[in-house]
This record gives sequence, structure tokens and C-alpha cells, in this order.
Amino acid sequence: MGSGKKVLIVEDNHMNMVLVKEILTLNGYEIMEAESGTEAIKALAAERPDIILMDLHLPGMDGITATRIIKSEECNRSIPVLALTASAMRGEEAQLMRQGFDGYVAKPIEIKKLLEAISASLKNPPRTKASGEKETTPSSTP
Ligand code: MN
Repeated sequence: MGSGKKVLIVEDNHMNMVLVKEILTLNGYEIMEAESGTEAIKALAAERPDIILMDLHLPGMDGITATRIIKSEECNRSIPVLALTASAMRGEEAQLMRQGFDGYVAKPIEIKKLLEAISASLKNPPRTKASGEKETTPSSTP
């Protein structure tokens, strides 16, 4: 299923990290791990994941700030970032999108929903955010 796609999991809760890692490994994904926003940014500099799962509550820098920093890099914008959140109520989803997230997975994590959210985002990765920003002309003519 995951066919070797690389997932960066940013999660400070050990049990959640183990759970998500287990689910994704069993489904054919490769895992990168970070326990804080700072670690996530460091990990990204070393290796490029296909998708990022970002816990919102992290020690030090929170997941929203980390995501903003990550998405401020042009080269990272096409990497989907899904928030891991216990508080994704109606309306909050829209707020998460404004903050740069491409989706979310509600905690407690349901295996099916996690896998669906990941494969949906991988199939339909974010375009370079066009709204409000200068559209970069795709250099399509080879
Ligand atoms: Mn946390």
C-alpha cells in the first residue's frame, strides 16, 4: 500500500509515535521520526519525506509554528502536512488549512482514517499555494 513512500512523523508522545509507526510500517511506508518541531526541520534538511504527520502540541515550538516554517520554504510546499490533533472540530479544519496544513487526522487515531488521509494526500499533493501569492510560471516547455 505505502509502496515505500516516506512519512515524517512529528510526535512527542511515545505511545502515539509507536502506534503510528507500527501502522505505517505494516502498510509499506518508510518512516522518519522527530519528537519536536526543531527536530522535524532538521530532519527535513537531511532527507525529503513524501508526507509529514505533525502533532500540534510539541515541546518548545508547536506544530503550527513548525508547519509555518516548513511551508515557508518553497521546496517544501508540495509536501503534504497533516495535523495530528485531538481537537479537530468543525470550523477548526478551516483554520488548520489557513495555517498551512493540508489536512488532519483526529486523535485518538483510527487506523483506517489515518491510512485514507495519507493516501488521499499523496494522490493529490498540494500545488504551490496559489491564492494570494504570485503564481510561479510552470516552466513546462522542455
Ligand atoms: Mn504532543
